[in-house]
Formats: sequence, structure tokens, C-alpha cells
Amino acid sequence: MSGSVTLNFSSDGAVATISLGAADERAITLTPRRLSSFVEALQRVRTSSARGLVIRAPSADSFCVGADISLIQSVADPSQGAALAAEGQRAYDLLEDLRIATVAAIGGPCVGGGCEMALACRHRIISDSPTSSIGLPETKLGILPGFGGTYRLPRLVGVPKALDIILAGKTLKPSQALRASLVDEVVAASALYARADEIARGGRPGTRRRVPMLDRLLSSNPVGRSLIRRRALRSVRKQTKGFYPAPLMALERVVDGMARPRDEGLDREARALGELIVTPVSKALVHIFFLTEAAKGLGKKARKDVEGASALVVGAGTMGAGIAGALARAGHPVIVKDTSDESLKRGKAHVSKELGKLKYLSSFERAAIGNRIDWLQFASDTMARSSLVIEAVFEDMPLKKRIFLDVAARVPHDCILASNTSSLSVSEIGQGLPNPSRFVGMHFFNPVEKMPLVEIIRSDKTSEESIAKVAALATEIGKFPIVVNDVPGFLINRILIPYLNEAVFLLAEGHSIEAIDGAALAFGMPMGPIRLLDEVGLDVAAHVSKVMVAGYGSRMAVPNFAEKLVEIGRLGRKSGGGFFDHGGKVPVPWGGLRAALGLPAQPGALLNSGEITERLVFHLVNEAMKCLAEGVAGDDPQLAVKQIDLGTVMGIGFPPFRGGVLYFARERGLDYIHERITALEREFGDRYSPFQRAPLSPSSAIVEGA
Ligand code: NAD
Repeated sequence: MSGSVTLNFSSDGAVATISLGAADERAITLTPRRLSSFVEALQRVRTSSARGLVIRAPSADSFCVGADISLIQSVADPSQGAALAAEGQRAYDLLEDLRIATVAAIGGPCVGGGCEMALACRHRIISDSPTSSIGLPETKLGILPGFGGTYRLPRLVGVPKALDIILAGKTLKPSQALRASLVDEVVAASALYARADEIARGGRPGTRRRVPMLDRLLSSNPVGRSLIRRRALRSVRKQTKGFYPAPLMALERVVDGMARPRDEGLDREARALGELIVTPVSKALVHIFFLTEAAKGLGKKARKDVEGASALVVGAGTMGAGIAGALARAGHPVIVKDTSDESLKRGKAHVSKELGKLKYLSSFERAAIGNRIDWLQFASDTMARSSLVIEAVFEDMPLKKRIFLDVAARVPHDCILASNTSSLSVSEIGQGLPNPSRFVGMHFFNPVEKMPLVEIIRSDKTSEESIAKVAALATEIGKFPIVVNDVPGFLINRILIPYLNEAVFLLAEGHSIEAIDGAALAFGMPMGPIRLLDEVGLDVAAHVSKVMVAGYGSRMAVPNFAEKLVEIGRLGRKSGGGFFDHGGKVPVPWGGLRAALGLPAQPGALLNSGEITERLVFHLVNEAMKCLAEGVAGDDPQLAVKQIDLGTVMGIGFPPFRGGVLYFARERGLDYIHERITALEREFGDRYSPFQRAPLSPSSAIVEGA
């Protein structure tokens, strides 16, 4: 029954088995009801004559994903959070204190409270299934492991490894978990439960890898631990820039917990969890978590339709190679077609370099993925087998149209046709295609390996079925899809460009790059806007700027600095210099910029960092609100708000701890932002034309949480 656990004994009574959920549960969560049922089961095991206990899930692909996240979201009082943690801790203490062989038989995800349950067992074995993983991702939700994870993990794997896992919220694949001494054995999926039974009956588990000598030494004494703490503190401060309290508190709990008896260590852990669970940062991160779940849901109905689909990628450049690699990793046979042999070679090398970075893959697995891709100059004969085409050739309308007309004549009638265009009209590319309902924009971001977002652009003829298939494909390859309409810049660039433009206006007023980029960094953006322009490439930026002005008129116009720099050969990072010089270890603002662009030595009115931030960031809010009102992210305002928040975090780098641009706007106060934008419009004209503040509009009601 959902919410409870089942307890069975083997026919000879020697082995008890606790199954954590019902067979039809997709994700086994630890609800308070399940925890109390778990405790009851443990008590029965304790008084039984069983010599061993196996803890497993009813399905081999879903061990336990930990606490129910909506529960985390609902906690408003630290003492309530601490009490929840204490309840889980008590259950796991009971498990740890059993004097029999306890074995966690892990198949599928074993994370958060699920992992902490496994940590309280004497042995952990994990199946080699691709869905298996184990880890403690709590800090990603702005909290820390509160069911004993900060206490037990360092004792098992040493303090350095425990910090590595907990502070970054890592989840490990089976081979990584074995290397980290976190599990005893990796077992073939088909043998998982038989092996668990053997160990529960007293069989010897595989020899768990010993924690490295140095880690053991450092972990076991106060001097060593204070050394580790100091080093970790530096790295956490660098990573979190002071925006995320959870890793810092987790660090203290891990190090301090090593010197305390169990009750004390756990009590402090529970109280720390209580403090963190009510922070605005945690609430924002939980909000993001739900957005990612909603995005994954978009492709659910078509998941089966795209499984193992043969793909054709046209264009082996930066994007095509990345897309091909992602498809092959998800098990798709891929053909990459390019007219240039040079590009094909480079594309292939790119894929093997990226695969080489995935240390958890064996060389055999890497080779198998690489072998799924054929790199061809002439692919006409093989196209008839494709179920999916993704085009990633130069950003050139006639070229893209020609390619699709040619491909459409060779592939099956229902083969999905997708363009990775970043700025051209999807409807126009698809004009004249037979069966245009299967044509769609599929906008990956650069670099494909790192960027988690895919914008799916519906043309005026794209069918819901095609959208669902492309969304399913995106989730299958580990990306988060959002579905948007075919407007210039689509959703993400449309929101981003006014913000980037404003940075250039600030520069034109005489503000320094340091002041502009510094203000964005202080807000929590991963990179300043001027630096971002250099990363994108100033030629690309100038091109996109033209598209935006053509689409939205003068409010998207910007001083032509990008063009001027391109004229003198400064294209941004790719040419070694743009607004910055990129020759050294870290980019530095180019000394010749003021002279080259005729910038004033200093601004007439010097703005402070907060004022600069408002001028930049309120553009993001303003354009996002306009997109919401126009239905760019869909006509359902609730879904649109979610897509905009997720898209701004995953595609623009809007700080996750601020929950996405509309979540931020609600927290900051939409009235205040509207007032400020209206004032800025009076000062600077139509680039600040404010979003419509219709008091009863459904979209603003949703944004304001009314
Ligand atoms: P790229 O210049 O790296 O690669 C384009 C490839 O297309 C080249 O290898 C070229 O040989 C090949 N090509 C040209 N004509 C062809 C033809 N007729 N048949 C087969 N191959 C052909 O370009 P890119 O950066 O990978 O961009 C590709 C597309 O992705 C563009 O539409 C671009 O707007 C879009 N995009 C780029 C980025 C980015 O940051 N680079 C991000 C998102 C989307």
C-alpha cells in the first residue's frame, strides 16, 4: 500500500525483508506515515529470530528518493523542521542498532533520506543498472542531510570525501560510489536481491575499498579536521559567494559531528536542518526543483515514442557535435552529416574529448557511445531510417530551408524535423515542407554538454504530438525543456537582450566594466553582462541585436559598440579580445576601450552598485512580464510563469537562490519594480517602456501569488 512498507520473512525465518513502497510507485518518498511504518517493521525484526535484514524497493529501479519535497516546502518554523529530522534520525538509529547483518539492496536512485537509510545499514550493495545512483543532494535544496547523513557519511568514507559529496549535493553512479567506499559491491541488476540475501545470511560482502590512508589520518584527529575545514571553507566561500548558507552549515556539522557522540551530533544536525529549511534560499531552490519536475513532465506521454529513435544531425560544428554526443549517450544511433570533412573530424574529436571527461564511464562504455555515431559527408542512403532530424548548420535562412526541403523528401513522413536556429523564424524555415506539423525549433544552448535548457519553439503549424516527442527527447538526454512561441529571440534571448543592452548603455554613460559586471555578480549572476557579450561573440551579438530591432523596434536598439569592436578584429573571447582581453589567465577589461569607443572618462551621475543592479535586472523582469502577457511561454499563465522562471535560471543563469525572474519579482514587489521602471522610462525613453500593470490580469495575479 502506498505510504507504508511491507515486511516479509524468508520461509526459514532467517532473513527479514523490508520493501519500502508499492510496486506501482514511481518515486518512493519518505512520508511521515512511511517512516512510522518503517519503525514498526524494524521493531518486529528486532524481536524476531532473523539473522539478517534486507532493505529494498519493490521495483529494481526505484530504491528511495528521500523525504517528500512538498513537505520540505511546507515547513515554516525551524522547530517543526528539527522535529521532522529527529523523527527520521530515530528510525535510522533503530536500524543502525540492530545486531544482525543489515543490507541495503539498492537499485535505481537512492538519494537524500534514502541514502541516509542505506548509511545506517551495515552493508550497501548497488545494482549496475543505468538508473542506479546514490548520494546526498540536500544542499541543492538549500538544506542539509538531516537524517544522520552529516554524521554517518564521514565515518564511512572519511571527512574529505563526505564533504565532497555533501557540500556539492553530489549523487554518484555505482562505479563512483564503489571508488568512494560508499558501497561494498556493484552487482548485476539481475543478481541484486539474491546477493543481498546471501549477505544477510552471513555471506561475506565484497571487500569495501579502504578509505585512503591520508583521509583516514586527517579525519581521525582534531588537527587534521581543522585543516580540512579551513580548506573546505575557502572553497565553499568561493563557490557559493555567500549566497547559499547550506554548504557552510553542512561543513560545520560534518567536521564538528566527528568529535561528538551520536545523540549530540544528530541533535545539532536536526537543529541546523530546522534553521535552513525555513530560509528564503531553500524555498526558492525548492521552487526550482518543482519547476524541473514540471519540465520533465512535458515529455512524459511521448517517452516511449522516442526511445532508441535513430537520429540524423545535420552540421557537425560546435552545436551539432554536442547534440550528437548527447543523443548517443542516451542510447540513440546517430548519423552526423556535414559537407566539410574537417568539421566531421573536429566534431568526432569533440565528442571523444567530452566523453573522456565522464570518469564514471568505463573505457568500454565510452567506446560503445562513440560507436553509436556515424560521421558522414554523404548520408542520403541512410536517411530513410531516421525518426528524428536535428539541423545545426550555419545561421542562414536559405541554407536551412534548402536542407529541410531536401531532407524531408528522404526521411519517413512522420520523422520529426527540428532546427537548432537561435534567431531565425521557425515558421519561415518550415514553410513549404510536406507535413509541417512535425517541424519544430529545438534550441540548445552552448556548450550543449553543460547547458541544461532546451527551448522548444512551436511554429504556426507544429502539432502537440511533435512538441511532446521533442520534449520527451530533451528530457531523455538530461535537459529541461520549455515550450515557447516563435517570436524574435524566442523566450530566452528576448528576455536577455534588453539586460545586455542596458549594460552597454551604462558603459556608454561612462560606467566602468568593473562597476557594471560587478553589480550583476553581486546580485548573483554567474557572469557579468559585458563579459557574457564577449563569451557569446560580438559578431553573434551584433547579428542578434539586428534581429531584435527588426522584431521589436527602437526599444531594443543599443549603441553599436559590438559592431565597432568587430570591425577592429575584437570578436570577444574567440578572437582573444573584445570588451575584455582574454590572453591571460583571467580576462581583464581592455585598456583601449574608452579610446576605441569614445567613452566618457566617467559618468555624469555615478550610480552605486544597487542602482546599477536595478537598471540591469529590472529589464529582465520587464521583458519577462511582457512575454507572460503576450503568451510567449504559452497561453496557460500558470505554466507560463513556471517556464519563464525555469528558463531564466537554466538559460540565462538567473540566480537559482532567487527562484527565477518572476519569483524574484514577486518577492521584491511587482508594484515597486513597476514604479521604478516607469521612472526609468521618463529618464531614458522607450527602452524602459513598462509592462502592462492591469490590476486584474490573471498573469499578474499569479506572479503575485494572489
Ligand atoms: P558552426 O559554424 O560551428 O557549425 C556549422 C556546421 O554546419 C559547420 O560544420 C558546417 O560545415 C556545417 N554545414 C554548413 N552547410 C552545411 C550543409 N549544407 N550540410 C551539412 N552541414 C553543413 O555553427 P554552430 O555554432 O554549431 O551553430 C549551428 C546552429 O546552431 C546555428 O543555427 C546557430 O545559430 C545555432 N546555435 C548556435 C549556438 C552557439 O552558441 N554556437 C547556440 C545555440 C544555437
